[in-house]
Amino acid sequence: MVRGQLRDEFGDTAFRSWLKPLTLKGLEGNCVRMSIQSRFMRDWINSHYSNRISELWTKVHPEVRTVEISIDQTAAVPPNAGGPAAGAFKGGFNGVANGSSNGTGAAPRGAFSGTSQRNSPPPAPAGFTGTGERESQLDPRYNFEQFVVGKPNELAHAAAQRVAESPTVPFNPLFLYGGVGLGKTHLMHAIAWKIKEDNPERRVLYLSAENFMYDLIRALRHKDTMSFKERIRSVDVLMVDDVQFFSGKDSTQEEFFHTFNDLVNRNKQLVISADKSPSDLEGLEERLRSRLGWGLVADIHPMTYELRLGVLQQKADAIGIHVPFEVLEFIATRISSNARELEGALNKLVAHATMMGRDITMDLSQTLLRDLVRANERKLTIEEIKKTVASHFNLRYADMESARRARPVARPRQIAMYLAKQLTPKSLPEIGRMFGNRDHTTVMYSVKKVEELYALDRSFAEDVDLLRKKLEP
Ligand code: ADP
Ligand code: MG
Repeated sequence: MVRGQLRDEFGDTAFRSWLKPLTLKGLEGNCVRMSIQSRFMRDWINSHYSNRISELWTKVHPEVRTVEISIDQTAAVPPNAGGPAAGAFKGGFNGVANGSSNGTGAAPRGAFSGTSQRNSPPPAPAGFTGTGERESQLDPRYNFEQFVVGKPNELAHAAAQRVAESPTVPFNPLFLYGGVGLGKTHLMHAIAWKIKEDNPERRVLYLSAENFMYDLIRALRHKDTMSFKERIRSVDVLMVDDVQFFSGKDSTQEEFFHTFNDLVNRNKQLVISADKSPSDLEGLEERLRSRLGWGLVADIHPMTYELRLGVLQQKADAIGIHVPFEVLEFIATRISSNARELEGALNKLVAHATMMGRDITMDLSQTLLRDLVRANERKLTIEEIKKTVASHFNLRYADMESARRARPVARPRQIAMYLAKQLTPKSLPEIGRMFGNRDHTTVMYSVKKVEELYALDRSFAEDVDLLRKKLEP
């Protein structure tokens, strides 16, 4: 039956690694319940085999619509699955209004009822007086212990910790913003976990802006806005993630604005995130925008190489697998967009290696990640560097190529050559050619000179840093 079929379709190795460890727990209504010992395995199965398992089950039992996999950590000792918080909070998340702590401790975040689905209905409605569902959206891996701190996120991290640990409201709201995959959601979940751990009596509610809107709409439809308001406003800490989603949605904004004021007036903590700063959030009413900026606004900058490496190391440790350092370096160098992609790359390697029973090597990494790496290839050109440097120093583009050796022209030119060497894969002779046909030794000299001055002269270093920031994606 289903098992045999899966083995035939996916092969023996994959079956043994991923599918055999699944334990069938039973059939409930139109849902098949299974369990597995680690979160990582569950996520992997969900993203790779879910549709097929679901289809096969439907063939045998036509009523089957979804398959849900819970995590049963007693089944085996998982490699560090879920980190310290996972066990501690398992099923113990008694939320705001009720304690629908489902015994499995594993609400189906991204389970079959999730995104990979074609033919099954959306997850059962959240039964909207209850909050169990909402809270189980907190990912146990997203805690402070597993958040790597670096320059780009240190302010946001410190502020988040402050909010989580302070018995009073230190600033209101805490507004976190930054691009995709830079850790905003991670930090918000971490705040929630920390408060739950230290002060279980404090009521914390985390909502994506999307869920805020859906719950509101559902309340309107059921003519039950009172209980919506009650639920949202009865908390001590309200977090709303990705509020750029409210853009152009006027009535949701209106409700959010009133919720916001009501909570702030009663000295309840708000934590908000978005992809832009309050003043840059288009499509939000002015009064809301200005209010969002009242507290502490902390932006998260794009990840540096060091931070990328740190995050990768952390993720590898969390999975409990050894990945050679040079492979981590390779990923951190070649994939620079955001942590979500880094994690995707790592998971791909780990899954493949596990399935094939192979070690993770450079060779394997280069082959498997070829497409990802290509997609991340930088398109920064030397022309762009010359243009940016020239305009920064109020020079003409032609000065970058001219033979003039006066310092006000020569220095910026040297900086441009240095940046070309640092930020593009071009060779010294290639760079020389682009700067008025100079010799490669001139480029080499420029690079050395800039490095020297960088260490000696603070304002020079600031110029270089600023330019680098302008040029880096
Ligand atoms: P955002 O909400 O800003 O789009 P997420 O919080 O969802 O980003 O982060 C995307 C992924 O990257 C998550 O798996 C998260 O754990 C990871 N991540 C981001 N920043 C860090 C960090 N500083 N340390 C560890 N993991 C991180
Ligand atoms: Mg997010």
